Amino acid sequence: MTHDEIMARVEELIAAGETTPREALDEVNLPMIRHWAEAMGDTNPRWASVAPPAMAQVWTMYGLDPHRPAADPLHGTMQLLDEAGFTSVLATNSDQTYARNLVPGERPAVTTRLESVVGPKQTGLGEGYFVTTQNTWWVAASDGRREAVATMTFRVLKFKPASRVDPAQTVRPVVNRDTAFFFDGTANGELRIQRCNACGLLRHPPGPVCPSCHAMDRGHVVASGRGVVHSFLVHHAPQVPGKTLPLPLALVELEEGVRMVGAVRSPDGTEVAIGTPVHVVFDRIDDNLTLASWSTSEPPPAAAVEDRASDLPMSRIAITPTLIVSTALATRDFQDVHHDRDLAVQRGSKDIFLNILTTTGLVQKYVVDWAGDDWRVTECSLRLGAPAYPGDTLELSGTIVTRTDGEIVVDVIGAVSLGAHATSRVTVQR
Ligand code: ZN
Repeated sequence: MTHDEIMARVEELIAAGETTPREALDEVNLPMIRHWAEAMGDTNPRWASVAPPAMAQVWTMYGLDPHRPAADPLHGTMQLLDEAGFTSVLATNSDQTYARNLVPGERPAVTTRLESVVGPKQTGLGEGYFVTTQNTWWVAASDGRREAVATMTFRVLKFKPASRVDPAQTVRPVVNRDTAFFFDGTANGELRIQRCNACGLLRHPPGPVCPSCHAMDRGHVVASGRGVVHSFLVHHAPQVPGKTLPLPLALVELEEGVRMVGAVRSPDGTEVAIGTPVHVVFDRIDDNLTLASWSTSEPPPAAAVEDRASDLPMSRIAITPTLIVSTALATRDFQDVHHDRDLAVQRGSKDIFLNILTTTGLVQKYVVDWAGDDWRVTECSLRLGAPAYPGDTLELSGTIVTRTDGEIVVDVIGAVSLGAHATSRVTVQR
């Protein structure tokens, strides 16, 4: 299927507009709320009588049965892109608003429309299309009309997964008198730039003689590890030992002013483009070789957790397989990447990972636990970054953006060892 054929079908799906309302399988009910709260570790007593706003989407999630109504535009787009070879999916953004809390006995219905399909884009995960849908949840009002209770703009990256390869097969660089300092650095988590000890000029790639003053006395400085893509290409063929294709390769301009060539990956699906901010990551191949490459995701916070600026008390959540699986089930998300490790790996992931409905729930719980029980989440805008895998820790920190008697806006960062897992803005009102 060509790009033009994909986009022609997309135009039809967009033109079809909003779907007819699809009712939740169950009324809002206390057992499902309790399962959700237990899995999230959310002990807020309010959930004994109303549903958490973050559950809005849960009520109308499809079940285990993989069949979907033909009219569902998100499903239609997924199917179309599946057929075109873009078989993997990653949620990237979820922006939700909540008019009020749902109460037990209400049966919400959802309408969906396809807003846009943008692509193909080169991302560090592979080539893909960004698919954006708009959802509205409704309940029947007493006067026979319907009341919108929640909305969501949802964006996913649908991509061709890169084939998995053995990194140990990688082509090994020549390590000699001129370059040994560089690889000693990467082995110790440092990106080193050669410096002329006579005139101070920084230079890369390393060499024996200063190109400016011709001195041979040389040392190095440790770079910040941050830069921007100055230029790039995407290598599609032939296969390179130990590398997944397509492989974005960039000339990165470092903050220190020198440029380095390296592979770029984007665990968060960010498109690789000129000007894209990147930070160095170190790939340990074996005891004798660690390579430097570049990542588009937010870098891990430099400061220790205790030292990071946070108006809200920091919160640490252990990411266990039990948390990932129990919250996936409690949010009625039966995607195999959230419970089946083998299938997750087959789809290009390292392991099972936390789903976006859970991240949304944990971020909202974090803000409400701090703000107090009389505050209600009205908006939550969330961008997903690095995945949260088992064995990692999710560290939540929050800074107050605005605060009045009736409304607080908080920016919440959820960091994992790979970088920012979630960057979000939460509005609470009372
Ligand atoms: Zn010099």
